Amino acid sequence: MKKYTGISIFKGIASGKLKIYKRNDVNVMKCSITDTEAELKRFNDAKKVAAEQIEELYELAVQEVGDENAAIFRIHIMMLEDYSFTSAVENIITNLHYNAEYAVSTTGHSLYDMFLEMDDLYMQARSADIQDISERLLTILYGNSEAAIESDEPAIIIAEDLSPSETVRLTKGNIIAFATAKGSASSHTAILARTMKLPAIVGADMDILSNLNGKTALVDGYDGCIYIDPDERTIRQVERKDAKEKKKLQLYQKYKGKDNVTLDGKSIKIYANVGSMDEVNDAVENDAGGVGLFRSEFIYLDKTRFPTEDELFCVYKNVVDKMKSKDTMIRLLDIGAGKRMEYYGLPQEKNPALGCRGIRYLFTRPDVFKTQLKAIYRAASYGNVSVLYPMIATLVDIGRILNIDKEAREELDAQHIPYGNIRHGALIETPSAVMISDLIAREMDFVSIGTNDLAQYTMAIDRENAVMKDFFDPVHISLFRMIKMVIDNTHRYKKEAYISGEIGSYTSLTQLFLALGADGLSVTPTEILPLRQVVCTTDLSKISQDELTQLWS
Ligand code: PEP
Ligand code: MG
Repeated sequence: MKKYTGISIFKGIASGKLKIYKRNDVNVMKCSITDTEAELKRFNDAKKVAAEQIEELYELAVQEVGDENAAIFRIHIMMLEDYSFTSAVENIITNLHYNAEYAVSTTGHSLYDMFLEMDDLYMQARSADIQDISERLLTILYGNSEAAIESDEPAIIIAEDLSPSETVRLTKGNIIAFATAKGSASSHTAILARTMKLPAIVGADMDILSNLNGKTALVDGYDGCIYIDPDERTIRQVERKDAKEKKKLQLYQKYKGKDNVTLDGKSIKIYANVGSMDEVNDAVENDAGGVGLFRSEFIYLDKTRFPTEDELFCVYKNVVDKMKSKDTMIRLLDIGAGKRMEYYGLPQEKNPALGCRGIRYLFTRPDVFKTQLKAIYRAASYGNVSVLYPMIATLVDIGRILNIDKEAREELDAQHIPYGNIRHGALIETPSAVMISDLIAREMDFVSIGTNDLAQYTMAIDRENAVMKDFFDPVHISLFRMIKMVIDNTHRYKKEAYISGEIGSYTSLTQLFLALGADGLSVTPTEILPLRQVVCTTDLSKISQDELTQLWS
């Protein structure tokens, strides 16, 4: 038995066979086709997209490593256009009548082998380039989202790392858990895993290159461990722990229907963070006071084009109907950084987390912005809806939002489409937003503090970077000072301030959040009842200022 330890991101256990996932490890299907013209067009279109992507990489490489080193991307473009490659693919499509994916993969493999067998070291090294090119083409041909990560039997995925879009694709099939060597607890991948209720471990100290494929494993999502070839004793121990935790969950049930009020009468709202329709059901099931953060990206992540206004409206209305008269706070599309799909047309950036993401991306795509906002307005006819704007940094952002908001309403009026009122909330997740939170609170109806990003931007540490995990402190005192500043500033304008980052569910901090005056906490649905239990059994009047100070210093 071997044990690897990392950070648990979802409590639960899973046992099954290990399956190693490598990026772009697409399962190429061999299919006979009849329309060879259409298939040739697919191949040529994919080639065009690949050439554009490589061109962008070239530009970026010139800036970073200079002309000479960037030249490899020029070679890639030449190889992509190379007659022997192209004609071999076209031949398989036209004369053998097979699909473009199979044609690219077969040609790629035979050229790879051919280069590898050459005597010249330079030519041998070109095998990696041909592999790179055919993988790129396959990714494009599969629309970047089609390459499902599947298994025929219950399997635990292990990978170097998983991007959010790869994590979304894990749901298809028999995937019951995953463990990655990289990643951090507040990464979007971790949030998605929680959303999907997959026992998962990130940042595990394992070498995925070793031959683990097919071995039996046990994931202990309570202690953040993965056991390879677990012995009977370990299996029994982990199962006992699971049973105990499940029993605890049972005990929380008695808090359903209760108010979130402390023994000395201080109340706080407890909302749910949701990122899928399943989680909306969990929010209802766990008696959430509403949805405090609807991460709407999931509607976009498994598509190959932007959803239409009607498609969005259907999803939002469904959520609003489920939440009945309770608050539903829908966050506008927060893509960029780790969350990207080919069709978003995001630029290649050196520091994506500091670049085109959240509201900044939406400003580059007013059509996408307005489509989403109009769908939210329409859903607001059926319930209590708010919209949350991600990644606000300046008052100019707020001004631009209000203009687009006005245009969206004017368009709905012109189309005679009925809609309801919405409340507007800013996500406070940049230090600049904290520092001007009084001005933001003046313009908006409420604010929600996104502590996951606020911690990353305050500490200047990428929340997705496992290498930095020992430096990253999601509960650093600087964060609490900021939270206090935001709450005080917001209250000056008689508006409410909520906390929607992961630390909202840390029961060790609940008393502090109550004392700081947070109006609400928005947490993973399964954390609602444990949190309510803490609130209901707390007597703030019995906690001295000294004790509270100790909680955050
Ligand atoms: C946050 O940053 O704290 C937040 C709520 O948003 P996300 O984790 O989705 O970036
Ligand atoms: Mg955020």
